[in-house]
Amino acid sequence: MIPVVALVGRPNVGKSTLFNRLTRTRDALVADFPGLTRDRKYGRAELEEHEFIVIDTGGIDGTEEGVETKMAEQSLAAIEEADVVLFLVDGRAGLTVSDEAIAKHLRSRDKPTFLVVNKIDGIDADSACAEFWKLGVDAMYQVAAAHNRGVTALMERALAPFADSLKGDDEEGLIDLSSVEDIEKADLTEEDAEAAYKRLQEQPIKLAIIGRPNVGKSTLTNRILGEERVVVYDMPGTTRDSIYIPMERDGQEYVLIDTAGVRRRKNMNQVVEKFSVIQTLKAVEDANVVLLIIDARENISDQDLSLLGFVLNSGRSLVLAVNKWDGLDNEVKERVKSELDRRLGFIDFARIHFISALHGTGVGHLYDSVIEAYKSATKRISTSLLTRIMQMAQDDHQPPMVRGRRVKLKYAHAGGYNPPIIVIHGNQVNDLPSSYKRYLMNYYRRSLEMMGTPIRIQFQNSE
Ligand code: GDP
Ligand code: GDP
Repeated sequence: MIPVVALVGRPNVGKSTLFNRLTRTRDALVADFPGLTRDRKYGRAELEEHEFIVIDTGGIDGTEEGVETKMAEQSLAAIEEADVVLFLVDGRAGLTVSDEAIAKHLRSRDKPTFLVVNKIDGIDADSACAEFWKLGVDAMYQVAAAHNRGVTALMERALAPFADSLKGDDEEGLIDLSSVEDIEKADLTEEDAEAAYKRLQEQPIKLAIIGRPNVGKSTLTNRILGEERVVVYDMPGTTRDSIYIPMERDGQEYVLIDTAGVRRRKNMNQVVEKFSVIQTLKAVEDANVVLLIIDARENISDQDLSLLGFVLNSGRSLVLAVNKWDGLDNEVKERVKSELDRRLGFIDFARIHFISALHGTGVGHLYDSVIEAYKSATKRISTSLLTRIMQMAQDDHQPPMVRGRRVKLKYAHAGGYNPPIIVIHGNQVNDLPSSYKRYLMNYYRRSLEMMGTPIRIQFQNSE
């Protein structure tokens, strides 16, 4: 499971700066879902081989009272959901009363917490840090978030426990064949490799049904689980994360990742637990295919776009479902479709379905797109095919000149799957304009008939 890191501290210590540094995005997922505070930000980060979710909990008011109320309301939920807490203080401003109040609060929680002294650029860090030992911590980390100093070392330490658990398999000498990449890396005979690919394709598809509150996730989940053709297996006990529901339909196995908490409710009339952004984001990370639901009766909101942005960032396969399509007159349907075109037209790889979870209309067709997306994302593509397509693209439309020399593409190979990564080698390829990169991407998508999954292209200068 992907770890969650919460950034905590009083205003102005540099939380946003560190957040932006880690996520490298300006448009973080800002949670203004009903029932959640407005100033909590969620982002997805990659650092070396680590992937994690970051929450910026928003500033905590300086007064004792403020810590009690605001911290309780805003940051507490984030801290509870986090695996690791980074407690930021300002090395230039020195220790303050609110730092001490926050520290006291954090001590009462049982979370791995790292004290991070920020803004140590241009000052005598060691003497500035000395007074922070009063906070009663075991270790502190000196960083300058604005200058990216100390950040990698800090994150390496904070995330180390999670990296170790991933590497366990190797140490015991087991060969992991749970992805196309693993199979290619393993030294197998052609026959064994074929069998491994086949097993992989027969794996259950992990499908996350996500969307903001009230779009119809529970209704759809219940509809899917209630279908006669679906066989639902016993599932393991409840956790603080989504419930995983194994099921089978038409010979294909799935694991439904239930972010709506359907299976956790004892009866249908019970109030749903508060919508959890973290739970949704973790579900995306853990899924093979994401089914994002949008409400046809509401305008496409910033929350829809934020969730979508997160899915795109994660590289997961995607199917879009516009729900509540029942009982709309044609004029409204046309308006919804042109709104989709205008705001989501840039996602050219995802199938869009118009469904009614309530009546079941269109729900059966979702499975086809889910399977198609999964197959596309895990398809094995040979070096010769990738190179041939690259060559055809280059013949149809030559790359431009850069500094008086024509860019030349030489060969291509697969660099990863789920999402598929294509690595193109050539002269000056790093200087290709983005329009040509986009052209190559579209060319590959059409030639490989890959629907439902993003494709990533990386360029490698071979000079
Ligand atoms: P937040 O309120 O905790 O989110 O703090 P911000 O990230 O908005 O930062 C507050 C101020 O501190 C801004 O003016 C930043 O430019 C500045 N700042 C952040 N990190 C550093 C740093 O590493 N060094 C210095 N000198 N300033 C920093
Ligand atoms: P969730 O919060 O995303 O799990 O949404 P729910 O499944 O609880 O649905 C929210 C509301 O929308 C409920 O009142 C549902 O009855 C209604 N709803 C869900 N799907 C449909 C649909 O396809 N058509 C119509 N008309 N209403 C729907």
